[in-house]
Amino acid sequence: MKVIFQQYLCHLKGMRIKVKDLSNENIIYINKNGIQYLQFRKLLEYKDILSHAYGCGNDVNYRTVSHTRELSEEEKRQAIQNYENLCNQIGADSKKLIRSKQRHTDRILLVDNLNEASNENEPFDGSITNKPEIVLGTTNADCILMILFDPVKKVLANVHSGWRGTLQRISVKAVNKMKEEFNSNPQDIICCMAPSIRKCHFEVEKDVAELFEKEFQELPYDEFIKKQEDKEKWNIDTILINRRILLNQGLKLENIIDSGICSCCNCHSLHSFRVEREKYGLNALVAKLN
Ligand SMILES: [Zn+2]
Repeated sequence: MKVIFQQYLCHLKGMRIKVKDLSNENIIYINKNGIQYLQFRKLLEYKDILSHAYGCGNDVNYRTVSHTRELSEEEKRQAIQNYENLCNQIGADSKKLIRSKQRHTDRILLVDNLNEASNENEPFDGSITNKPEIVLGTTNADCILMILFDPVKKVLANVHSGWRGTLQRISVKAVNKMKEEFNSNPQDIICCMAPSIRKCHFEVEKDVAELFEKEFQELPYDEFIKKQEDKEKWNIDTILINRRILLNQGLKLENIIDSGICSCCNCHSLHSFRVEREKYGLNALVAKLN
């Protein structure tokens, strides 16, 4: 409530909302001329062949469509401008951006041709390419966003994995597609997980907890689901689940990098559906091969 009030006050005064420096051992926070974004330190080791940025700031919204309300022309224009600003930071052309049509599916689109992918009508929550001219974009407001990057075969995948996507193991499906399409070796693949809701805030009712229990029987239940002592609520660690299933797929432990940032705990800096509710805004992750 306090956060929403602060945002409202800043909005009234036309002020930019101050974002906390979210840097940590895996993440670096950058603020260049008011364009604020995060980068993975690990991926910066490969900056000659991969560029990426996770846009943050609560006054910056990357939403261009909404299924619950009509966006104003100004909102759409501003969102497109925000994409352009973010892409400019990493030397990417926002006109070559393919944004996932996210509907919590497990579909991963192979992006080979810009025009074809731009005209894709069916929803997809992941995209893969080996074409340097193409920029891949995903958005979130609590869901997990991942970059899967194979520096050997030079393949990039962006994946949106909310709790439904995690139940459908979309991250594993992306790895499999990298293997099938580009002969990637899972041992070479680096997975970076952007800010998302974490176990501290991701609480569910019994029905969802049971879905996770049923789907992930190969994982130790007590590690990823915890019932709250005083309530019929369960907290689920979807980051841990994704880490475990990717390890089982052959990724190396040191190649699975977690931002460690909870979107709810940091809702002053990041959009969070659980905090903002119906009118929630979106953060965006853009990445491209060079
Ligand atoms: Zn949290």
